[in-house]
Amino acid sequence: MAVEKKKRLADYGLHSERVMWKGKGPGVFETELGELEEALMLTTLDKAVLWAQSKSMWPDTFGLACCAIEMMSIVSARYDIARFGMEAFRSSPRQADLMIVSGRVAHKMAAPLRQIYDQMLEPKWVIAMGVCASSGGMFNNYTILQGVDRIVPVDIYVPFCPPRPEALMEGIIRLHEAHQAGVPPAYERVGVAT
Ligand code: SF4
Repeated sequence: MAVEKKKRLADYGLHSERVMWKGKGPGVFETELGELEEALMLTTLDKAVLWAQSKSMWPDTFGLACCAIEMMSIVSARYDIARFGMEAFRSSPRQADLMIVSGRVAHKMAAPLRQIYDQMLEPKWVIAMGVCASSGGMFNNYTILQGVDRIVPVDIYVPFCPPRPEALMEGIIRLHEAHQAGVPPAYERVGVAT
């Protein structure tokens, strides 16, 4: 008796096989390409993606205190953050992937800040700008969160009170360099639920 060969979805001309067949793994073409990349020591696509992501980080429009004035000035002609592909501060966290915590975080702002962070796109990054955001600074009292890293994972800490725009830009450039070098975002490193 002839045994009818089981047809795969691909045999029917469907290309959604792996979407519908969980755990099927990569296709032949992708496997061969992966082996070729390994043999030639190439990760060109990965590098291109990391480069593109680092050149298109869009900060959320989010300011908390005096540091925010310094943050706003980085889009001015004098500092020109557009050189790094970041001129577009987004008004919605759903279109942003970088949170610059610019100023002290009052306890009552902790929950909204975390909500904004949760709504941001992945991969996403956080910069604690200034001593207040980093550690509470001189506000060692019951109203101020003693470091924003208690509620969100922080990638870069920028010191000073307030940091000059140049200091913030150095933090941003170091974040770009780390990302291009393949350093994962803080939430992946510390395993914070997002
Ligand atoms: S670090 Fe200084 S400038 Fe920034 S929020 Fe604190 S007090 Fe204001």
